Amino acid sequence: MYAELHCHSTFSLLDGASDPERLVERAVELGLSALALTDHDDLGGAVRFATAAKEAGLVGIIGAELTIELMVDGRRQMADDSRPPSTIHHLPSTISHLVLLAESRDGYANLSSLITRARMDNPRGTPRVSLDTLARHADGLYALTGCARGAVPQALLRGGRDAACESLATLLDIFGRRVSVEVWDHAVPEERELARELIAVARALDVPWVVTNDVHYARATQRLAHDVLCALRHGQTLEDMGTRLRPNGEWYLKGHAQMRRRWQDDDAGIRQTLAIAERCAFRLQDLKPRLPHFTLPPGVSEDEYLARLVEGGAAERWGWRRTARHDKQLEHELALIAKLGLAGYFLIVWDIVRFARRDGILCQGRGSAANSAVCYCLGITAVDPIKLELLFERFLSEERTEAPDIDIDFAHRDRERVLQYVYERYGREHAAMVCEHITWRGRSAVRDAARVLGFSPQQAEELALVADRFSARRTAEALRQSAEGPVREALGPLRGPAAASRDGTSPSATASSTTAPAATTLAATAPAATLAATRRCASRSSRMRW
Ligand SMILES: [Zn+2]
Ligand SMILES: [Zn+2]
Repeated sequence: MYAELHCHSTFSLLDGASDPERLVERAVELGLSALALTDHDDLGGAVRFATAAKEAGLVGIIGAELTIELMVDGRRQMADDSRPPSTIHHLPSTISHLVLLAESRDGYANLSSLITRARMDNPRGTPRVSLDTLARHADGLYALTGCARGAVPQALLRGGRDAACESLATLLDIFGRRVSVEVWDHAVPEERELARELIAVARALDVPWVVTNDVHYARATQRLAHDVLCALRHGQTLEDMGTRLRPNGEWYLKGHAQMRRRWQDDDAGIRQTLAIAERCAFRLQDLKPRLPHFTLPPGVSEDEYLARLVEGGAAERWGWRRTARHDKQLEHELALIAKLGLAGYFLIVWDIVRFARRDGILCQGRGSAANSAVCYCLGITAVDPIKLELLFERFLSEERTEAPDIDIDFAHRDRERVLQYVYERYGREHAAMVCEHITWRGRSAVRDAARVLGFSPQQAEELALVADRFSARRTAEALRQSAEGPVREALGPLRGPAAASRDGTSPSATASSTTAPAATTLAATAPAATLAATRRCASRSSRMRW
């Protein structure tokens, strides 16, 4: 049996071509023993991955491939505190990759801390952690030496076996025995040679070696999508990408039989995948959200304080119109809130709304919270659910296991003041911004795919105009069929891209036959690939990622 321990989803922005659900689906089809999600410096896909894995009955391991900052020769010089910081700062640094998997809850917490540090301590878009930060957050994590850009393979390529052993020894210092040397076989001769050498390094230090496929897409057919994403990341056309594209399409999810054939001479590295998967027992579902503490007046419980506030609010809201029906509803809601231990949550939301009102900031709760008389009495929502006969259970019920979700709109120009209040009152470490992923739709997918395929911006724009606005699948279908239709019209007066005219086909036919699959795959990728990120990353320097 085989477990894949190194796998990227679309949350490795512009480097993964399958969303977490598709990877899980494929892993189940292949009968993998486990699958680890290891996106670049990101846990954005973890919840979707863990949910899909649980539903499918697949062992889903949470991890990440971190970018590590190494000093000159790969030794642990960052930890040397005797140097003035500015000297350390000016040492030439190199970047390497390291795969970390959460063995336990502590490991997950450390992984989260590392990613937070990687992003907060560095300029936007260049996350990285130093070795001493890594050393402070290593508990509960299992380390694989990463892809060919890992510190050990890099040391091997630059300084030979001794340098690689030294680099591996650094990792052993940090992680104890929780390290395996990672090797791969994507049918690339140089990589095979590297893997052979890496196994020798592992044996020299008596460290296990493990096989992964450093997966970047679920199925072999998605290679084109992946190439298009890479080109977008580099802001280049496919043609100009040259050797920066992976040399073949082997970076897809593979099953036991296929991996076994590749490693038939020695299957120790395949068996090691199972040993590691077994150690990584942490599941995201083990976590329960913990709310920050709401400061109460002395001697009063959260439930009592909430009831007191609701009572005051009810008198204000209904006054003499209040009836037994109102009382009954409030009692029912408060009893359930107490039973589910959620009073603190309502107090925090009330506190934020109170701050906004006091400061003259317009705010309004919306969504299913409007079904709650408690929210109405606390001033969180504005409509009377009893008068409108709204069903409270749509907002909160014992059967629904998840925490309630109260959305509040604040006047845009004052939003920052509310954020600052939340940070000050509850602490930075208890408040987080939610990140939004903007996904490709029909037109944007066509526009970006066309650009990468070498069409001029004007042609890309024309193609996008004939595309379906939202559905990239429909767009792709239309493009496929329309060598004679709107595509030809759109491209009529224009010349096709260089790549199109070379093979002798007409520009429009090529447009439909190449843009269509690229757009479809881009659209299939859409659920997590962000356009905002696309734009940002596309202008970034051309760093080789694999
Ligand atoms: Zn890597
Ligand atoms: Zn990787």
